[in-house]
Amino acid sequence: MRFPSAPIAAIVAGAATWTAAEYGLHRFAMHSLRGRGLASREHLSHHADVTYFSPASKKLLSAAATTVVVLPLATALAGRRRAIGFTVGMVGTYAGYEVAHRRIHTHPPSSAYGRWARRSHLHHHFGAPMRNHGVTTNLWDRLFGSYDDPGVVTVPRRMAPVWLLDARGEVRSEFAADYVVRGGAERDPGRARVDRSDAFANIAPAV
Ligand SMILES: [Zn+2]
Ligand SMILES: [Zn+2]
Repeated sequence: MRFPSAPIAAIVAGAATWTAAEYGLHRFAMHSLRGRGLASREHLSHHADVTYFSPASKKLLSAAATTVVVLPLATALAGRRRAIGFTVGMVGTYAGYEVAHRRIHTHPPSSAYGRWARRSHLHHHFGAPMRNHGVTTNLWDRLFGSYDDPGVVTVPRRMAPVWLLDARGEVRSEFAADYVVRGGAERDPGRARVDRSDAFANIAPAV
């Protein structure tokens, strides 16, 4: 049996293209637009309230829209077989990104990669919203000079992921080298308003 090298290369190219799109969309279509347009509004709402994620219906819609645009374009450029591989690689990696991003906020790390992904993304949220736009890889941030080594990430207690804190609201000992928490746990309406205007101005939330 012949090894189907062309479709596999196309799948890898599609996956790599997604990571570039993840960087570009996150940086320019979401943060730079400061709430203009649906994608930016949804994303900055997630920055204002880290427990908010766009509903799955909106994500399925954007995956379908991507397929509708990418598949015919790739077919015209590279033929049907490779186009299907490319689209599968791109949309599959997009789906993987959605799961990985949600898990960063909801589940503790279970690998060195998971530990890096959480530190880098939580630095993006709480330290510098215009840095570390890549969620699954820092390749594009390094290439375009927007990568910060997260160091020790300072997290406002009211926005801390549940996995980070113990029952007393302090950083669990296994994460003490990576994070500190500051401030109160309460999120009153006044605080929420300030968090929202900060998020839409790409300002890190006050601690
Ligand atoms: Zn996030
Ligand atoms: Zn962001």
